[in-house]
Amino acid sequence: MTAQIGTKEDPYDILIIGAGPHALTLVVRLLTPHPASLYTDKEQERFVRSSKLKSAIRKERICVVDEHGAWMTRWRMLFDEYGIDWMRSLVDVHPDASDKGSLRDFAMANNRLDEIKEIDDFVEKNKHRASGFNHAQHTSFQIPSSSLFIDFCAHLVEQLDLKNVVRQARVTRITPVPSGEFELILTNRGGSVIPLYAKRVVCAIGNVGIPNVPRWVQECQACGRRRYPRDALMHSSELATGGYLRQCRPTQKGRRVMIVGGGLTAGHLVKRGACQFDEVIVVTRQHLRVKQFDVSLQWVDRHSASYLCRFWQESDPKGRLKMIQTARQGGSINGWMKEDLSAMQSSGTLRIRERVQILTATWIDNSTELGQHWHVELDDGSMECVNRIWMATGSKMDAEHDKLLSQLHRAIPVGCTEGLPMLTTDLKWHPQHAIYVMGGYAALQVGPNALNLAGAKIAADRIVESIRDEEEESSECQVCVGLEECQNRYDAIALE
Ligand SMILES: Cc1cc2nc3c(=O)[nH]c(=O)nc-3n(C[C@H](O)[C@H](O)[C@H](O)COP(=O)(O)OP(=O)(O)OC[C@H]3O[C@@H](n4cnc5c(N)ncnc54)[C@H](O)[C@@H]3O)c2cc1C
Repeated sequence: MTAQIGTKEDPYDILIIGAGPHALTLVVRLLTPHPASLYTDKEQERFVRSSKLKSAIRKERICVVDEHGAWMTRWRMLFDEYGIDWMRSLVDVHPDASDKGSLRDFAMANNRLDEIKEIDDFVEKNKHRASGFNHAQHTSFQIPSSSLFIDFCAHLVEQLDLKNVVRQARVTRITPVPSGEFELILTNRGGSVIPLYAKRVVCAIGNVGIPNVPRWVQECQACGRRRYPRDALMHSSELATGGYLRQCRPTQKGRRVMIVGGGLTAGHLVKRGACQFDEVIVVTRQHLRVKQFDVSLQWVDRHSASYLCRFWQESDPKGRLKMIQTARQGGSINGWMKEDLSAMQSSGTLRIRERVQILTATWIDNSTELGQHWHVELDDGSMECVNRIWMATGSKMDAEHDKLLSQLHRAIPVGCTEGLPMLTTDLKWHPQHAIYVMGGYAALQVGPNALNLAGAKIAADRIVESIRDEEEESSECQVCVGLEECQNRYDAIALE
């Protein structure tokens, strides 16, 4: 990283907040002169073989700021803490813009093809069968192992020499300055504060929202005649970031944990809980829903393009929100998780209580056989005694309350629908300001996959195309080095 870039006199071309998979997808896309998404497979093959093509942007003029100081730290931490062995998304969905098949090629080159496996979403297929789904046309789905995916991302970082692009700090303020650029206030670990300047800003801050805390928790805390130990009642976000999940103490006889929620996070917590407790009890409002992806199949398979078109044709943000909610349908677990949970039920370590909700939880601080415990009253009239309650109740994304976005919202007010900002089509926070948003906060523009790796690709394409258009318009075109030689990007084919 060159020290003098990022000043008022010489701002970065792009400053990205967050170094997760979305930011990586964007940086790789920026540095890929001929991304697969813009060409047919044949054209793309020719580009990949061509050595004459140059990068589309200069890496030195990109800065990524992340409080962890390295690529994908949060992702790694969550996957480690939850013990996730397999990705939920497909093998061709990854941050490399140059070639859909590159993760598979990486597996092949490293003798790791056994880390890609075929999956079959029977439940979803059966639903489709009822609506005329044609199995003959169905292509199989393949997913990579989590370690293969993470090693591939590390390989991309190394190949493109992106390690030093990331700078460790927390961005606490974004302010437009009169010259048209942005001043960003960075707070370092030690608390010192420095300003950095950039022509464009991208918020790729992830989907960490405000934890969804059920009502009975607020009531329980309010009445709190007896205070309970901090780890007696925790949300999954605190459990994962506080290092509580990997403690694998020998089970103490009779100790129980209750897990609230019916999504994949609840499933991971069950598996972690079984290492620490004698019995795990899951309490879920609905029946456990089984599906491979966190969105319904039509948003992933060959029909996804037509579903996305329908989404983009909907002009009312409330209509879009409804489509997102229908596609995501709350929490669900995948087929293997279901198998694992069924095995635990058979062995007696797990009880699943579906279609019930907690009414009250009272902390009992006595020295009975159970020790300190929660007395939990459920809405079917039953009760349970448990030592710990873990909430896998998700989180709520709300730009008006997020630490960074709420500040941005005050500086540049925009409309929000249920906490999601109404961005422009090219994912700008506001038409007159080059601040872009990707990830879950871009859901009203990107669609139900916004927070996933698939959404990262859509967002990266839109942001990069917007930047190129602006650069071309201002005819300075410092960014489009590779395209200077061509009248338009299809002329590049003739370079070969
Ligand atoms: C357990 C789990 C498993 C998942 N599995 C899959 C899967 O298999 N396939 C799939 O497609 N999706 C999956 N997802 C969904 C999604 O892909 C991930 O949530 C992914 O991490 C989102 O990437 P991101 O870059 O938007 O955010 P993150 O990975 O959260 O990265 C954002 C980064 O920004 C940093 N940051 C935030 N605010 C600031 C600030 N103000 N200043 C500086 N830095 C900041 C954070 O520290 C973090 O490092 C999964 C999600 C979870 C939680």
